[in-house]
Amino acid sequence: MTATVGSSAWRAEFWGPGCDPAVIVAKNWVITSGKIQCHKNAIRAFRALGRIMVRRGYVIRRDVTGCYNCRPITGGTAPSAHSQAIALDVNWDTNPYRLDKVVTDVPRALVEEVQSLTTDQGVKAFRWGGDWDGRPDTRQSNYDAMHWEIICTPEEMRAGFSIPAINEEDRTTWPLLDLDEKGEAVRHLQWYLALERTDIAQDGYFGPKTAAAVRDYQTSRGLPADGVVGYGTWTSFISRQPLLAQGAATPTKNQHAPV
Ligand SMILES: [Zn+2]
Repeated sequence: MTATVGSSAWRAEFWGPGCDPAVIVAKNWVITSGKIQCHKNAIRAFRALGRIMVRRGYVIRRDVTGCYNCRPITGGTAPSAHSQAIALDVNWDTNPYRLDKVVTDVPRALVEEVQSLTTDQGVKAFRWGGDWDGRPDTRQSNYDAMHWEIICTPEEMRAGFSIPAINEEDRTTWPLLDLDEKGEAVRHLQWYLALERTDIAQDGYFGPKTAAAVRDYQTSRGLPADGVVGYGTWTSFISRQPLLAQGAATPTKNQHAPV
Protein backbone atom coordinates (compact mmCIF):
# COMPACT_ATOMS: atom_id res chain seq x y z
CA MET A 1 0.00 0.00 0.00
CA THR A 2 1.53 3.26 -1.13
CA ALA A 3 0.79 6.54 0.58
CA THR A 4 -0.87 9.33 -1.44
CA VAL A 5 1.77 11.61 -2.92
CA GLY A 6 2.05 14.73 -0.79
CA SER A 7 0.23 13.30 2.23
CA SER A 8 1.94 13.38 5.61
CA ALA A 9 2.42 9.59 5.40
CA TRP A 10 4.11 9.97 2.00
CA ARG A 11 6.38 12.74 3.30
CA ALA A 12 7.35 10.70 6.36
CA GLU A 13 8.09 7.66 4.19
CA PHE A 14 10.29 9.44 1.68
CA TRP A 15 11.57 12.58 3.38
CA GLY A 16 11.88 11.47 7.00
CA PRO A 17 10.01 12.29 10.21
CA GLY A 18 10.68 16.06 10.05
CA CYS A 19 12.31 18.44 12.51
CA ASP A 20 15.69 16.75 11.92
CA PRO A 21 18.45 19.39 11.87
CA ALA A 22 20.92 16.77 10.53
CA VAL A 23 19.33 16.90 7.06
CA ILE A 24 18.94 20.69 6.92
CA VAL A 25 21.43 22.81 4.98
CA ALA A 26 21.64 26.57 4.44
CA LYS A 27 22.17 27.16 0.72
CA ASN A 28 22.05 29.92 -1.86
CA TRP A 29 18.92 29.16 -3.86
CA VAL A 30 18.36 32.02 -6.27
CA ILE A 31 20.74 34.51 -7.86
CA THR A 32 18.88 37.58 -6.61
CA SER A 33 18.50 36.61 -2.99
CA GLY A 34 20.12 35.00 0.03
CA LYS A 35 20.14 31.54 1.55
CA ILE A 36 17.35 29.22 2.57
CA GLN A 37 17.44 26.41 5.10
CA CYS A 38 16.08 23.33 3.37
CA HIS A 39 16.44 19.56 3.11
CA LYS A 40 19.86 18.74 1.66
CA ASN A 41 18.28 16.70 -1.15
CA ALA A 42 15.77 19.39 -2.07
CA ILE A 43 18.02 22.33 -2.91
CA ARG A 44 18.23 21.70 -6.66
CA ALA A 45 14.44 21.70 -6.94
CA PHE A 46 14.19 25.01 -5.09
CA ARG A 47 16.84 26.46 -7.40
CA ALA A 48 14.82 25.31 -10.41
CA LEU A 49 11.76 27.03 -8.88
CA GLY A 50 13.80 30.17 -8.22
CA ARG A 51 15.13 30.32 -11.79
CA ILE A 52 11.58 30.38 -13.12
CA MET A 53 10.67 33.21 -10.72
CA VAL A 54 13.74 35.28 -11.62
CA ARG A 55 13.34 34.76 -15.36
CA ARG A 56 9.72 35.89 -15.12
CA GLY A 57 10.67 38.96 -13.11
CA TYR A 58 8.87 37.88 -9.94
CA VAL A 59 10.54 39.64 -7.02
CA ILE A 60 11.35 37.36 -4.07
CA ARG A 61 11.57 39.21 -0.78
CA ARG A 62 13.90 37.47 1.66
CA ASP A 63 12.33 38.70 4.89
CA VAL A 64 8.94 37.18 3.98
CA THR A 65 10.24 33.94 2.46
CA GLY A 66 11.29 30.74 4.23
CA CYS A 67 11.52 26.97 4.08
CA TYR A 68 12.46 24.98 7.22
CA ASN A 69 10.07 25.37 10.13
CA CYS A 70 9.44 22.64 12.72
CA ARG A 71 5.64 22.92 13.01
CA PRO A 72 2.37 21.13 12.20
CA ILE A 73 0.51 21.96 8.99
CA THR A 74 -1.73 25.01 9.12
CA GLY A 75 -5.26 23.82 9.89
CA GLY A 76 -4.13 20.30 10.91
CA THR A 77 -1.97 18.31 13.30
CA ALA A 78 0.40 16.32 11.04
CA PRO A 79 3.98 17.59 10.69
CA SER A 80 4.13 20.29 8.01
CA ALA A 81 6.14 19.84 4.82
CA HIS A 82 8.11 22.73 6.32
CA SER A 83 9.23 20.41 9.11
CA GLN A 84 10.78 18.19 6.44
CA ALA A 85 12.06 21.37 4.76
CA ILE A 86 10.62 20.40 1.37
CA ALA A 87 8.20 23.34 1.11
CA LEU A 88 9.04 26.97 0.52
CA ASP A 89 6.80 29.90 1.45
CA VAL A 90 7.47 32.84 -0.88
CA ASN A 91 6.33 36.40 -0.07
CA TRP A 92 3.85 35.38 2.59
CA ASP A 93 2.53 38.91 3.09
CA THR A 94 1.20 39.17 -0.47
CA ASN A 95 0.25 35.47 -0.72
CA PRO A 96 -1.65 34.91 2.54
CA TYR A 97 -3.21 31.67 3.80
CA ARG A 98 -6.98 31.92 3.25
CA LEU A 99 -9.99 29.68 3.76
CA ASP A 100 -12.37 31.52 1.43
CA LYS A 101 -10.48 32.24 -1.79
CA VAL A 102 -7.01 32.43 -3.27
CA VAL A 103 -5.21 35.75 -2.79
CA THR A 104 -1.91 36.04 -4.66
CA ASP A 105 0.46 38.28 -6.60
CA VAL A 106 1.96 35.34 -8.50
CA PRO A 107 1.19 35.49 -12.24
CA ARG A 108 -0.79 32.55 -13.52
CA ALA A 109 1.76 31.71 -16.22
CA LEU A 110 4.45 31.41 -13.55
CA VAL A 111 2.27 29.05 -11.53
CA GLU A 112 1.64 26.91 -14.60
CA GLU A 113 5.30 26.78 -15.54
CA VAL A 114 6.25 25.58 -12.05
CA GLN A 115 3.41 23.06 -12.05
CA SER A 116 4.76 21.57 -15.27
CA LEU A 117 8.39 21.62 -14.12
CA THR A 118 9.85 18.11 -14.13
CA THR A 119 13.13 16.47 -13.28
CA ASP A 120 15.29 15.35 -16.19
CA GLN A 121 13.47 12.03 -15.95
CA GLY A 122 10.06 13.65 -16.32
CA VAL A 123 8.79 13.51 -12.73
CA LYS A 124 6.75 16.54 -11.65
CA ALA A 125 8.52 18.40 -8.90
CA PHE A 126 6.09 20.88 -7.26
CA ARG A 127 2.55 21.61 -6.32
CA TRP A 128 1.28 25.06 -5.46
CA GLY A 129 -0.74 25.76 -2.32
CA GLY A 130 -2.87 28.35 -4.09
CA ASP A 131 -5.02 25.78 -5.82
CA TRP A 132 -5.47 23.32 -2.99
CA ASP A 133 -9.04 22.64 -2.03
CA GLY A 134 -9.10 20.19 0.82
CA ARG A 135 -5.54 18.89 0.63
CA PRO A 136 -4.82 15.39 2.00
CA ASP A 137 -4.26 16.33 5.64
CA THR A 138 -6.83 19.02 6.29
CA ARG A 139 -10.60 18.83 6.48
CA GLN A 140 -11.56 22.23 5.22
CA SER A 141 -10.88 23.91 1.91
CA ASN A 142 -7.92 26.21 2.02
CA TYR A 143 -5.73 28.33 -0.23
CA ASP A 144 -2.08 28.81 0.60
CA ALA A 145 -0.61 30.84 -2.23
CA MET A 146 2.77 31.41 -0.53
CA HIS A 147 3.38 27.65 -0.48
CA TRP A 148 5.42 25.65 -3.03
CA GLU A 149 5.82 22.01 -2.05
CA ILE A 150 7.98 19.23 -3.47
CA ILE A 151 6.01 16.18 -4.65
CA CYS A 152 8.79 13.91 -5.88
CA THR A 153 10.96 11.61 -3.81
CA PRO A 154 14.67 12.10 -3.10
CA GLU A 155 15.34 9.16 -5.42
CA GLU A 156 13.37 10.81 -8.23
CA MET A 157 15.12 14.10 -7.50
CA ARG A 158 18.52 12.58 -8.18
CA ALA A 159 17.93 13.03 -11.92
CA GLY A 160 18.25 16.77 -11.27
CA PHE A 161 17.14 19.73 -13.38
CA SER A 162 19.38 20.61 -16.31
CA ILE A 163 19.84 24.37 -16.60
CA PRO A 164 19.29 25.56 -20.18
CA ALA A 165 21.61 27.80 -22.18
CA ILE A 166 21.90 31.40 -21.04
CA ASN A 167 21.79 34.62 -23.03
CA GLU A 168 24.78 36.74 -22.05
CA GLU A 169 22.88 39.95 -22.75
CA ASP A 170 19.93 39.02 -20.54
CA ARG A 171 20.74 38.82 -16.84
CA THR A 172 17.41 37.18 -16.08
CA THR A 173 18.75 34.05 -17.80
CA TRP A 174 21.90 33.91 -15.67
CA PRO A 175 21.49 31.16 -13.07
CA LEU A 176 23.09 30.83 -9.68
CA LEU A 177 25.62 28.04 -10.12
CA ASP A 178 26.90 25.95 -7.24
CA LEU A 179 27.91 22.34 -6.58
CA ASP A 180 25.83 19.61 -8.25
CA GLU A 181 24.14 21.81 -10.85
CA LYS A 182 24.32 20.76 -14.50
CA GLY A 183 23.29 21.68 -17.99
CA GLU A 184 24.20 24.09 -20.79
CA ALA A 185 24.65 27.01 -18.39
CA VAL A 186 27.35 25.07 -16.56
CA ARG A 187 29.02 24.23 -19.88
CA HIS A 188 28.95 27.96 -20.65
CA LEU A 189 30.75 28.69 -17.38
CA GLN A 190 33.30 25.96 -18.08
CA TRP A 191 34.03 27.49 -21.49
CA TYR A 192 35.13 30.66 -19.68
CA LEU A 193 37.12 28.68 -17.13
CA ALA A 194 38.88 26.82 -19.96
CA LEU A 195 40.21 30.17 -21.20
CA GLU A 196 42.05 30.42 -17.89
CA ARG A 197 43.43 26.91 -17.55
CA THR A 198 43.69 23.62 -19.41
CA ASP A 199 42.37 21.15 -16.82
CA ILE A 200 38.68 22.00 -17.06
CA ALA A 201 36.36 19.39 -18.57
CA GLN A 202 33.52 21.09 -20.44
CA ASP A 203 31.09 18.38 -19.41
CA GLY A 204 28.24 20.55 -18.12
CA TYR A 205 28.52 19.27 -14.54
CA PHE A 206 29.48 21.57 -11.65
CA GLY A 207 31.62 19.25 -9.54
CA PRO A 208 34.40 19.95 -7.01
CA LYS A 209 36.98 20.64 -9.75
CA THR A 210 34.77 23.26 -11.34
CA ALA A 211 34.13 24.80 -7.92
CA ALA A 212 37.87 24.94 -7.21
CA ALA A 213 38.49 26.59 -10.59
CA VAL A 214 35.76 29.13 -9.87
CA ARG A 215 37.40 29.98 -6.53
CA ASP A 216 40.79 30.44 -8.23
CA TYR A 217 39.18 32.66 -10.86
CA GLN A 218 37.41 34.73 -8.21
CA THR A 219 40.67 35.22 -6.31
CA SER A 220 42.46 36.28 -9.50
CA ARG A 221 39.81 38.97 -10.14
CA GLY A 222 39.48 40.23 -6.59
CA LEU A 223 36.02 38.74 -6.10
CA PRO A 224 34.84 36.97 -2.92
CA ALA A 225 36.19 33.42 -3.42
CA ASP A 226 33.14 31.39 -2.40
CA GLY A 227 33.07 29.05 -5.41
CA VAL A 228 29.47 30.07 -6.13
CA VAL A 229 28.67 31.82 -9.41
CA GLY A 230 26.31 34.77 -8.92
CA TYR A 231 25.86 38.06 -10.77
CA GLY A 232 29.33 39.35 -9.85
CA THR A 233 31.17 36.32 -11.17
CA TRP A 234 29.01 36.02 -14.31
CA THR A 235 29.61 39.72 -15.03
CA SER A 236 33.33 39.26 -14.57
CA PHE A 237 33.45 36.35 -17.03
CA ILE A 238 31.17 37.90 -19.63
CA SER A 239 32.93 41.28 -19.56
CA ARG A 240 36.32 39.51 -19.75
CA GLN A 241 37.56 41.32 -16.66
CA PRO A 242 41.38 41.34 -16.82
CA LEU A 243 43.54 39.44 -14.39
CA LEU A 244 44.77 41.44 -11.43
CA ALA A 245 48.46 42.31 -11.67
CA GLN A 246 50.63 39.77 -9.89
CA GLY A 247 50.88 40.74 -6.23
CA ALA A 248 48.44 43.59 -6.65
CA ALA A 249 47.26 44.83 -3.30
CA THR A 250 43.58 44.78 -2.45
CA PRO A 251 42.33 48.33 -2.98
CA THR A 252 42.08 50.29 0.24
CA LYS A 253 40.54 53.62 1.14
CA ASN A 254 44.03 55.08 0.93
CA GLN A 255 44.36 54.06 -2.68
CA HIS A 256 44.05 57.64 -3.89
CA ALA A 257 46.17 59.26 -1.22
CA PRO A 258 46.76 62.99 -1.79
CA VAL A 259 50.11 63.82 -3.30
ZN1 LIG B 1 3.95 26.72 3.48
